[in-house]
Amino acid sequence: MSELNRISDGIEARLGRSPDAVPRILILGGTGEAAELAAQLASRNDLEFISSFAGRVSCPKYPIGAVRVGGFGGIEGLISYLIMESISVVVDATHPFSVGISRNSEVACARLGLPLIALVRPAWQKQKNDLWHEVITYADAAEFVNRKKGRVFLSIGRQEVGSFAACNDAWFLIRAIEAPTGQLPQHHEILLQRGPFDLKEESQLLRDYSIDHIVSKNSGGSGTYTKIEAARLLGIPVVMVQRPTKHTASAVETVDQVVTELTALLTRAVQDGKQRKEAR
Ligand code: NAP
Repeated sequence: MSELNRISDGIEARLGRSPDAVPRILILGGTGEAAELAAQLASRNDLEFISSFAGRVSCPKYPIGAVRVGGFGGIEGLISYLIMESISVVVDATHPFSVGISRNSEVACARLGLPLIALVRPAWQKQKNDLWHEVITYADAAEFVNRKKGRVFLSIGRQEVGSFAACNDAWFLIRAIEAPTGQLPQHHEILLQRGPFDLKEESQLLRDYSIDHIVSKNSGGSGTYTKIEAARLLGIPVVMVQRPTKHTASAVETVDQVVTELTALLTRAVQDGKQRKEAR
């Protein structure tokens, strides 16, 4: 059975269950793009959607529409959820560094024959006057800053801060939305802030703390890019952690592309379903 047949069967089944039922979309979220997608889909009456969050932060900013929170329980849990909730299409709009949930969604969708639209925002590209030292792992970044010593702005979120716990020869300004738990480097200050950040304020922050190096992951997007721009303006080196490979399937880069792909997918599926019904 082709992917399209399975989708249209799924949509038909839902339409058969109730004349008002419409395709249900699961948005794997936790990013600005996922929230933007929810905002765009909210006005549509040809589909329903639910945004899913891992539940990492205690004061999350939820998007418009229905929301669920917490892990699914691995691939099997996700498969059960997709079946129970009659999901027709999954959109993976998670962060470029969130590899686990993306791999799970690929496997779960492949097993159920459900379409998966992956949204991966483009990586930042090194510009003229950027002083980037690109590394593959957080351990590489830790080794680099400990060797260079000095004052480090650690702006990688809270989950990977432990990789720098043994860096006793450097001082860290650790910025995260919530305080990191677990082992921290000996010399540090924690700054609790949520983006997006203003270029002027980022430049001031780097000056106020006499920062020598920034450690960042190559998240892409505009919300946290101002620290990279500020580093360029002030001539501060950035240790840039490269992205992991996230999707084997092709991904789109923008919310508009997701909407276009989703609309085309649902239109084709409904047309295909009608044609097969007529042919019966
Ligand atoms: P991850 O390593 O890819 O996922 C670990 C586990 O967390 C998954 O196996 C899944 O648990 C659960 N999970 C992750 N995203 C989920 C979602 N949207 N809905 C339900 N369960 C989810 O993910 P992560 O890097 O820890 O990121 C967690 C969330 O924070 C993601 O939604 C991501 O978009 C957001 N985020 C991450 C970063 C980052 O730098 N990593 C930055 C900003 C936002 P089960 O196996 O139990 O299903």
